[in-house]
Amino acid sequence: MTSQPHWRRCTTHWRPQLRRPHLVTALGAPSWRLGLTQIALAVVLGAAACVSLVSPGPGSGNVPVVRGQYKNGRDQTVRIALATAAREGPNVTPDKGQLVIRPENGSFVQWNGKTYRGELVITPTDSGLLVVNRLPMDDYLRGVVPLEIGNRTPAEMAAVQAQAVAARTYAYKHLSDTKSFDMYATVQDQVYGGVEAEKPQSDAAITDTRDVVVLFEGQPITTPYHSTCGGSTAAVSEVWYDQPDQPYLRPVSDRIPGTNNYYCDPSPRFSWTQSYDGPGLRAVMEKYLANYTTAPKTNLGRITDVREQGRTASGRVAALTVQTESGSYTLKGNDIRFVLRDPKGAILNSTLFSLSAASSGGEVSSLTINGRGYGHGIGMCQWGAIGRARAGQNYRTILETYYPGTTIGRIAG
Ligand SMILES: [Zn+2]
Repeated sequence: MTSQPHWRRCTTHWRPQLRRPHLVTALGAPSWRLGLTQIALAVVLGAAACVSLVSPGPGSGNVPVVRGQYKNGRDQTVRIALATAAREGPNVTPDKGQLVIRPENGSFVQWNGKTYRGELVITPTDSGLLVVNRLPMDDYLRGVVPLEIGNRTPAEMAAVQAQAVAARTYAYKHLSDTKSFDMYATVQDQVYGGVEAEKPQSDAAITDTRDVVVLFEGQPITTPYHSTCGGSTAAVSEVWYDQPDQPYLRPVSDRIPGTNNYYCDPSPRFSWTQSYDGPGLRAVMEKYLANYTTAPKTNLGRITDVREQGRTASGRVAALTVQTESGSYTLKGNDIRFVLRDPKGAILNSTLFSLSAASSGGEVSSLTINGRGYGHGIGMCQWGAIGRARAGQNYRTILETYYPGTTIGRIAG
């Protein structure tokens, strides 16, 4: 416990129950009032400068709630979930009251060792406290774009701009009227690193493309993207076999016209090999096959054959049949990647590959996978965007290529 926290110097409004601070950092507490107090103070003590607290209390309803999808143009606010005690996305109502931690004087707020623009909104839910970072759209993108495309050369700026527009479009598409936040800060949506992730080049790309999004029939689209297509992007159903195809997500060749080269061939994972010996193959099958097929969790038996079952339009493996002593099991689309993992547990780079297997004594004794590309292959190929930028294409051309049939325009202000 302390009596001299530095924020005492700030102009700060306290509710009575917040007068006796306790220094804690743990998330979650048995009662919501106690939990709110603790979590608020943990955040405040990490703040870079002055912080104002707005604590409306149960039912007061004076915390602004963002409403409406993409109505506000450049002033659009997004809400990013940083932490939640709930196992699944909570869908809470604000009637229990929220606490807003709002930095003053252009400073930032810190949470869990990271620094964020905007403000933190802490909401009690049935299963714990939800911590949300609420901030303007482009401030959010500043913490996303550099993590998605890395440090690029000046000649590759168009790829960074394309990434900024793709990330912005994704965010607009995921604004929600009904949920208590719009996106997670992780790969579940887009990886968001807050202020520490920001880079001058990506900041410039975000400014250059202010309000620009990818539109189909006048609406922002879902903009999946991936590291390296390996030669051609994929339609949705080639990989995510249980999801509907979209007219703007279909195979696009990344071959450089008039050559046998590809825009994404500078990628370190343009081509790759992954190999298993017999025991290694059996180990991954025993560990993962039951998660995606009807295979038993134990006693799979010897693996007698692994065989591809057809190719998709872009040349990816459509399905893979694994023959074992206990039966024959078929993996489809992206599920293949989640079974054929490497010894560290990393999923297979892509489904664009060919197999060569050898058998000994009625059992697969080695399996070699020669593949191309990294990622699901749907939508924009990030290394292809880099290659196209080097070749002089602008970000509009890059995006209209990878999302065919779309237009690049400004969100309605
Ligand atoms: Zn590519």
